[in-house]
Amino acid sequence: MYDAIIVGAGLSGLYALHRLRGLGLRAKVFEAAGGVGGTWHWNRYPGARCDVESVDYSYSFSPELEQEWDWTEKFPGQPEILAYLEHVADRFDLRRDILLGTRVVAARFDGGWHVTTETGERVSARYLVMATGCLSVPKPVEVDGLASFRGEWHHTGRWPHEGVDFTGRRVGVVGTGSSGIQSIPVIAEQAGHLTVFQRTPNFSLPAYNGPLAPETRRAVKAAYGLRRSLARQTHSGIPAEPAVQSALEVGHEERLARYQTGWERGSLVGILGAYTDLLIDRAANDTAAEFVRSKIRELVEDPADAELLSPRDHPFGTKRPCLDSGYFETFNRDDVTLVDVREDPIAEITANGLRTTGGSEYELDTLVFATGFDAMTGALTAVDIRGAHGRSLRETWEAGPRTYLGLAAAGFPNLFTVTGPGSPSVLSNMVVSIEQHVDWIADCLAFLEGRTIEATEAAQEAWTAHVRDVGAATLYPAADSWYMGANVPGKPRVFMPYAGGVALYRQLCDEVAAKGYEGFAIT
Ligand code: FAD
Repeated sequence: MYDAIIVGAGLSGLYALHRLRGLGLRAKVFEAAGGVGGTWHWNRYPGARCDVESVDYSYSFSPELEQEWDWTEKFPGQPEILAYLEHVADRFDLRRDILLGTRVVAARFDGGWHVTTETGERVSARYLVMATGCLSVPKPVEVDGLASFRGEWHHTGRWPHEGVDFTGRRVGVVGTGSSGIQSIPVIAEQAGHLTVFQRTPNFSLPAYNGPLAPETRRAVKAAYGLRRSLARQTHSGIPAEPAVQSALEVGHEERLARYQTGWERGSLVGILGAYTDLLIDRAANDTAAEFVRSKIRELVEDPADAELLSPRDHPFGTKRPCLDSGYFETFNRDDVTLVDVREDPIAEITANGLRTTGGSEYELDTLVFATGFDAMTGALTAVDIRGAHGRSLRETWEAGPRTYLGLAAAGFPNLFTVTGPGSPSVLSNMVVSIEQHVDWIADCLAFLEGRTIEATEAAQEAWTAHVRDVGAATLYPAADSWYMGANVPGKPRVFMPYAGGVALYRQLCDEVAAKGYEGFAIT
């Protein structure tokens, strides 16, 4: 019997193991993949990259680690982030308590947690920490005829380790979310011809990525503590000066100049963080959205393509904006074609390619589905988690997730979720959110000394209502986004993350702990 079972060996699971060990607890990690790293193990598609700066998208818990690791780029690619996480696993001697290639399929509580793996192994622990990731379950590719396709096809979230050779191939990419926007320019470089099938255009800003100069690295390292604490005091977990003005308080020219500076910064918050009301006031948001659309018109030579690539169905920032390296410019290439599958939807995959309902046929050798994930709840409801009364988490969340602080759920004692629904998680620099959650959980376990903890229904209802109200006061619900569950057929339309920001959220979590874990029953 372990003290704790941790499911997942990504950023969350690795740190959770380190912290729990530090408390003297016996912890074991189960990881479905053949390696550590989570997101950065699975997503090996060309162009896969972080859109938070390397020096911020990294652990802060160890000053030694901070000082000894040298990031080579402003926005690191997948291989570098994976190398970092493998280094962390080795440096903190984590691997001896991680069981790879082991998927957890069920967990049942009766005084402790009894976990069952895919191979039928049963293991028990007092506490269960689900570090299963918000974007770890790729949406199944649901398109007729895929089995008949004679070429090869891949989902970006399950990319083969040996890579894919596109040389001379006729390639089709389905999907223009973050993974599509990152991979399309790189695939275009190699492919014979690339056809991009777009249903919804997305806002994207240039990353202005590049090597990190040694003096930049030195400067960051010299003041790392300050930088981290600034990040924790922001809304998004990305260090930046807070906005102080409404976009509507300033004149047109001043606003344009501010957006131009934000555009050139190459940052998720360069424009979104420029004014206080961009995510709460539609008129304010329109000014930023129109600025980005004007940039798309400058970058894309063909006016019809430029218009097709210009998002008009959702406010700027209400779907996670992307940072790209030459995305819009890729459509100026003669060997790249943009197809609007909102206007003429995909009917089926054929032996030789793809056919639309309007009867257009595209001959393809390779298909890439950049079609996203069953976000936030997918990995949690994929496991048959049954709480104190035998009820499953899946049933309990049928109408949408209900949690206390995104960390716990009533009816599921001794269960913790890292960056669960109802926490800032995917709206933030995830490493900041992950460290905060794991620290909170570890402190809670130290306080419990083996006792049982369960969120009360009342606290859960109040928190869920608060998450809903804060979300409803923003523009987020105006988008058919994966934040809203809108990308998965049949998923309830509920805004899942907490939009109050990481600083306020941390304060609320700390207050709960300081009051002896208010809103929890401890027995
Ligand atoms: P994950 O990294 O998803 O790890 C979860 C692990 O749990 C996985 O390895 C999975 O195999 C395992 N697992 C799940 N279910 C089970 C089970 N039942 N049994 C056993 N194992 C299981 N965030 C940012 O803040 N900035 C970014 O720039 C950014 N870029 C991203 C780019 C991509 C392509 C993707 C997909 C995500 C990105 N994210 C980004 C979000 C990213 O997921 C988080 O930043 C972070 O990596 C999450 O770490 P995690 O450990 O919580 O989850």
